[in-house]
Amino acid sequence: CGIFAYLNYCVPRTRKEIFETLVKGLQRLEYRGYDSAGIAVDGPKKATTDINGNTICLIKKKGKVKALDEELYKKDSLNLDEELGTHFGLAHTRWATHGEPSALNSHPHRSDKDNEFVVIHNGIITNYKELKKYLITKGYEFESETDTEVIPKLIKYVYDNRESDNVAFAKLVERVIQQLEGAFALVFKSRHFPGEAVATRRGSPLLIGVRSEQELLTENIPVQYNSVHEKNSHNRSDCSNPINSVGDGSAVEYYFASDASAIIEHTKKVLYMEDNDIAVVTGGKLSIHRLNRQAGEDPVRAIQTLQ
Ligand code: GLU
Repeated sequence: CGIFAYLNYCVPRTRKEIFETLVKGLQRLEYRGYDSAGIAVDGPKKATTDINGNTICLIKKKGKVKALDEELYKKDSLNLDEELGTHFGLAHTRWATHGEPSALNSHPHRSDKDNEFVVIHNGIITNYKELKKYLITKGYEFESETDTEVIPKLIKYVYDNRESDNVAFAKLVERVIQQLEGAFALVFKSRHFPGEAVATRRGSPLLIGVRSEQELLTENIPVQYNSVHEKNSHNRSDCSNPINSVGDGSAVEYYFASDASAIIEHTKKVLYMEDNDIAVVTGGKLSIHRLNRQAGEDPVRAIQTLQ
């Protein structure tokens, strides 16, 4: 099973190039074992005012990454030559723990038929039955047999019940992982937050590769020890606070992966996430904060250079 996600900020890439990067990332993770694969990318914009016409397209396939790769080019509606200046794409190989291997059970999973939120997951959510039961009573409809599907439904539930219109993507994810038991590495994408990435982990590995065209990387990223109870700790401007981030808003690319083998061909600059870290990329800047403060913890996440 494996996670690979790729964000290009102010680095124009065609949809075809994005597909190639995502598929190559999955191929590097194939040795970990899997039974199905899938990706999520932005679809062409629609002429509607609904979420500014943003769309997300999911392509999922049982079997080999090669079969998924072939599937990508069959979708005529996906303009392969369209250049996307800033874009976030997800890719996943699944090793089924709950629900048989099938296209429907494979990842990314989605919040609803309109793909408002999509997520990829490695690991097992041990309390998914209770969460699923609760969400069903609230009217959320499930389409797969996986433990994972409670996650996109839960983030939509949190979003639908948000207190203010200005809620940050990371804040929603925090609320979600507070409810989760088990092991997870998660990467989220949303039509509400185009070009933004949120990733988190507990028990399953996840690291981030950073490639800055201007080589503007700092060596360390201070971790913001934000408790979710702190007031105003997660509004949008906090998440892009340049003091606590890498990147200055100029061209940069980020790679999220379960292991370094999928990143090394793009960059040697990597940052290993720790349990309960929440990494956010917004406006091209990466910042990391922590769900719960622990005494005596190292206050920075160091960017390491792979050999
Ligand atoms: N438990 C999840 C599932 O069965 C994720 C499995 C994985 O790590 O690939 O879909």
